[in-house]
Amino acid sequence: MSASRQFRLASRPVGEVKASDWDLVQAEVPEPGEGEFVVEVTHLSIDPAMRGWMNEGRSYVPPVQIGEVMRALALGRVLASRHPQFAEGDLVQGAFGVQEHAVSDGSGVQKITVAQGVSPAAYLGVLGMTGMTAYFGLLDVGRLQEGDTVLVSGAAGAVGATVGQIAKIKGARAVGVAGGPEKCRLLVEELGFDAAVDYKAGDLHADLREHTPERINVLFDNVGGEVLNQGLTRLAHGARVVICGAISQYNNTEAPSGPSNYMALLVSRATMTGFVVFDYADRYPEAAAQLSQWVTEGRLTSLEHTVRGDIETFPSVLLELFKGTNTGKLVLELA
Ligand code: NAP
Repeated sequence: MSASRQFRLASRPVGEVKASDWDLVQAEVPEPGEGEFVVEVTHLSIDPAMRGWMNEGRSYVPPVQIGEVMRALALGRVLASRHPQFAEGDLVQGAFGVQEHAVSDGSGVQKITVAQGVSPAAYLGVLGMTGMTAYFGLLDVGRLQEGDTVLVSGAAGAVGATVGQIAKIKGARAVGVAGGPEKCRLLVEELGFDAAVDYKAGDLHADLREHTPERINVLFDNVGGEVLNQGLTRLAHGARVVICGAISQYNNTEAPSGPSNYMALLVSRATMTGFVVFDYADRYPEAAAQLSQWVTEGRLTSLEHTVRGDIETFPSVLLELFKGTNTGKLVLELA
């Protein structure tokens, strides 16, 4: 029986995660029972939400329990199967966890056929949960209209880069907020954003004002904190503020203070709506078909940041999200 390694939650982190928040455990490669299959995990989706899943308390999914395998979306190959719908060699996507092998009964698992010219990692990014989040967040929650101005934060990240590109496809003006001149250059020169604002450059308020002369109809927020607070000052009448995430707050050790500019919602007759992509599960096929068509037509770029490494590198790769090292979807491809 060969060995398989897995990260099990050892303690609830305070502030930034550290390697000792998990135990790296050696297990045996599982055998499939009747109606099950075993997956060799090849790609782990590294998500800001992982930080929240480690916390105790009420959220949109139950917390990972101490001693449980760390939750993760992943891709893998079926190694052995006693399931009628999954065969050895199938490429599959599911919540397989931070481990080298997983056993599954097929619940929530999808078979993937990798399209020509697309990398497998794209099925965790623009053609996976990331793409779904951008699609439903912008079009449904944000009720995007042609001619709107969209301001998206975390714009050079996985969700943000997709939001800006969908906005352009739909005939809107896309303005991104990202950290650093290189990310801002990429947004404008390679992804077709109309403008990008570097929130680390100094005067966020003045820079937003300059690049949103007609104000903002959709504020798609991935980061929270001061970027959200300043974005609120630029709302147009009837604007929609979409709360997708708040990565700047995830390592807080104290409750965040609310955005002090919230009265801009009243002045602009705006709405602020939070959403969780899982609520759109029954419409994933619609989004998947549209997103893959745009990718095939060359209108939507899949931006991936793949780190190839041993599973042991998982804690340090997760931290990259909070340092902003990644551009596009962060994936750990297991060596
Ligand atoms: P991502 O944007 O690819 O990666 C995180 C990025 O956040 C970093 O590259 C960094 O970019 C930025 N960042 C980190 N710390 C920051 C800070 N203190 N202030 C401002 N920016 C900071 O991650 P993602 O997977 O696309 O997720 C984006 C957001 O969407 C997250 O908040 C996530 O929780 C949320 N999300 C929500 C749903 C949902 O259903 N609601 C689903 C998926 C994801 P810079 O270099 O630009 O700082």
